[in-house]
Amino acid sequence: MKVLGIETSCDETGVAVYDTDTGLRAHGLYSQIALHAEYGGVVPELASRDHVRKLLPLIRQTLVDAGMTIDELDGVAYTAGPGLVGALLVGAGVARAVAWALDLPAVAVHHMEGHLLAPLMEDDPLGRPEPPFVALLVSGGHTQLIHVEAIGRYKLLGETLDDAAGEAFDKTAKLMGLPYPGGPQLAALAEQGRPGAFRFARPMTDRPGLDFSFSGLKTQVLLAWQGSDQSEATRADIARGFEDAVVDTLAIKCQRALDEAGCDTLVVAGGVGANKRLRAKLQEMAARRGGRVSFPRPAFCTDNGAMIAYAGALRLQAGQHVDESVRVTPRWDMATLEAV
Ligand code: ATP
Ligand code: MG
Ligand code: FE
Repeated sequence: MKVLGIETSCDETGVAVYDTDTGLRAHGLYSQIALHAEYGGVVPELASRDHVRKLLPLIRQTLVDAGMTIDELDGVAYTAGPGLVGALLVGAGVARAVAWALDLPAVAVHHMEGHLLAPLMEDDPLGRPEPPFVALLVSGGHTQLIHVEAIGRYKLLGETLDDAAGEAFDKTAKLMGLPYPGGPQLAALAEQGRPGAFRFARPMTDRPGLDFSFSGLKTQVLLAWQGSDQSEATRADIARGFEDAVVDTLAIKCQRALDEAGCDTLVVAGGVGANKRLRAKLQEMAARRGGRVSFPRPAFCTDNGAMIAYAGALRLQAGQHVDESVRVTPRWDMATLEAV
């Protein structure tokens, strides 16, 4: 089954074709970062308009890259939420129109399920991770630990009470004067910083539970930065101190979640999953426990069409699809999803 995947939940237009027999055939991404940079954040109306401009050419190009014509498709998958309503409607409208024109089934994909399943698309010497496992979702809008009992059966174990991990990276970068979007740049800067030169708290690790809080960390960084000489070297040292605090905190909670769920498999997804130090730390933790950890390739940690095509293909294969209306769900709880 060859499935076209369409992602337009925020500021990335993503398209892919996933073939359930042969794997990922092609994927394309158009990032709107430059468009939103001068505003220091995503402007929803500009995001929607740009998806309108970019989506059809990207579908055409992705089909060329896959060596396919559009009539070879067997289904269409699109992100229906969570995300920006106008941006979601562009992807949903186009997906429904393509499906209607070709008389194909279409399926609405939960963006965070897309992220969560992305690691399962990768070739892994240990084979594809099989549920039950624990998933750490660390993106720009979410920080969640989820017990994956089966594909589609998700039990929330813990989540952030304030900022998401990616949001904390972006806001911390901004307050030290790094350009938007700062998360990846802060991580790059941290590579030049000295470990231990600045030490910040590991929030909420001194008490039981699996929730997170990252907004206080940002304030600690602000105070350290304001009280410093604000040199390049100091900025790198603070970046390193911040990154180590976030990475340690996530690793401590992952270990706790695995213990509580009685699992030895961890799956990590979302933009912060691209962070090198987080990947190394979780590998180390998994090895120590005699378990395993799976990540998507860094390019599939952040938003992309491939994860939507893949998640949609699993649901379409199970016979799930939506009716002919164009509907999106800007706020959508993953626990309400149907099992596959
Ligand atoms: P959501 O999926 O929750 O709706 P989103 O789609 O905006 O949010 P993603 O695209 O998954 O989020 O990830 C983007 C986030 O990942 C940004 O906050 C960015 O700063 C962060 N990020 C990307 N690369 C890195 C990195 N190497 N280190 C730390 N953070 C990173
Ligand atoms: Mg983005
Ligand atoms: Fe995302």
